[in-house]
Parts: sequence; C-alpha cells; structure tokens
Amino acid sequence: MRDTDRALVQAATAVAKLRCRSQHHTVASAARTADGRVFTGVNVHHVTGGSCAELVVIGTAATQGVTALETIVTVADRGREISEPCGDCRQVLRDYFPSLRVIVGEVDSPRVVEIGELPG
Ligand SMILES: [Zn+2]
Repeated sequence: MRDTDRALVQAATAVAKLRCRSQHHTVASAARTADGRVFTGVNVHHVTGGSCAELVVIGTAATQGVTALETIVTVADRGREISEPCGDCRQVLRDYFPSLRVIVGEVDSPRVVEIGELPG
C-alpha cells in the first residue's frame, strides 16, 4: 500500500458516506491514473440490472478522455467495507486494464492485488 492507495480508499469511502444513501446507490468506486487523476462513481441499482460502480467509474474517466486506469477500489456499506469487483466487472477490468491494481481486504488493513490475481 502506497500513500496514494490509502488516499484512494479515503476518496471512495467519502463518496460512499456522502452519496450512497438510498437503495439506488449503495456502492462507490474510486480509480486513479498513473499521473494521479482520481475518478469516482456510484453504482446504479435497478431490477433491470443497473450498473456497478466500477463501470460507472470507467465511463466517467472515459468521458474526461482518460482510458488508462492504474488502481481501483470499491467501498460498500456506507464506507464500512471494501468490496471486491463482481465477476462481470473483473472481466471488464481485466480486458480494459490488464495490469490494474485492485485494493481489497478490510478497510483498516487493505492490500493491493493485480486484477489477474483475483479469481474468476
Ligand atoms: Zn460489478
């Protein structure tokens, strides 16, 4: 864990606490580029499928012209837990960013793995 990784967890946690206050938005992601730009997003929950926070972050970054992300973290439960990407998101993240660093583990003891190290 680098200081910038801890800052990324804090960014996702802040968005989760501030913006995830309804059943529509329950999870927040934050991603950082190699040059230090940070993008955040929340999930869009809906019975038709909605979208995970990770995908919203990818789209948000792309909207700003950024298509290379270095590190991502996802926080759930109003900032109380770090959540690993779901199977579909793992596939997308692996395909888009093969060397992406993913922060996993507990909020008070997070660690970094490469996207390829996550199963599925
Ligand atoms: Zn997902």
